[in-house]
Amino acid sequence: MLNKWEGIVLKTRPYGETNKVVTLMTREVGKIAAMARGAKKPSSRLAAISQPFVHGTFMIQQGRGMGTLQQGEPLESMRHIQEDIVATAYASYVVEIVDRLVESDRPDPYAFDVLSQALHAIEEGYDPEAIATFVEWKMLPYTGVQPILHACASCGAVEGEFAFSFTQGGFLCHRCFHQDPYLIRLTPTQLKLIRMFYNVPIDQIGKLTLKKETKGFIRKIVTTIYEEQTGMRFKSRSFIEQLERTPLLFNAHFNSQTHENEEGKIQANDDEV
Ligand SMILES: [Zn+2]
Repeated sequence: MLNKWEGIVLKTRPYGETNKVVTLMTREVGKIAAMARGAKKPSSRLAAISQPFVHGTFMIQQGRGMGTLQQGEPLESMRHIQEDIVATAYASYVVEIVDRLVESDRPDPYAFDVLSQALHAIEEGYDPEAIATFVEWKMLPYTGVQPILHACASCGAVEGEFAFSFTQGGFLCHRCFHQDPYLIRLTPTQLKLIRMFYNVPIDQIGKLTLKKETKGFIRKIVTTIYEEQTGMRFKSRSFIEQLERTPLLFNAHFNSQTHENEEGKIQANDDEV
């Protein structure tokens, strides 16, 4: 049976002399693998469509076992992601999170939307670090961790000062601070932002501009949850960390990045909040 699915290429691996196995996140059927015969040859009509980050429609012949990619049409180029090293690094991280957390052969429109919206936003030049952090928070429930962020994890209070507690799995109010000596105190802004990262749809985040320290802080919390509570390590994180240790390259990139905020004013990424 020949199917036409909308998908995004998560990864590819060589198979034999000329073939590739392409892993796709599709809107219709979730994560699948398909054989792309001859795709390693530059002259192949499958060469361009079987590259990481490509968003397109894919014609896949399903038989027994793995399907075969017959042809594909790109829906957008993802050129910025392919060409900008920082965008590539964070897009790779987003793709790896989805690939690792989503089960194969099961429709998952939520994960497809998170992935597709995140890559779109990075492609359009929004702050890739903020986008990747959104994906980390959005995909957290897939690890089995569901942080309690709407109220105090211990007493349920919704008012007061708050802190983040790894041992309590979410926010603690000031009345319960004694329960965790290692809690991380939060300002009202940080509290609001963490809730936003977790709850607000990713397509609304382009409007947000965050200070480097604010982003770093919110990212540190979610990264610690992944590493300490789920034991997951991501390969593409080490590339991001390498970039961050090369400040010249990294700052040159961020100083050149500007985009419009919701008032329509051009604003540097590192302003505000
Ligand atoms: Zn409490």
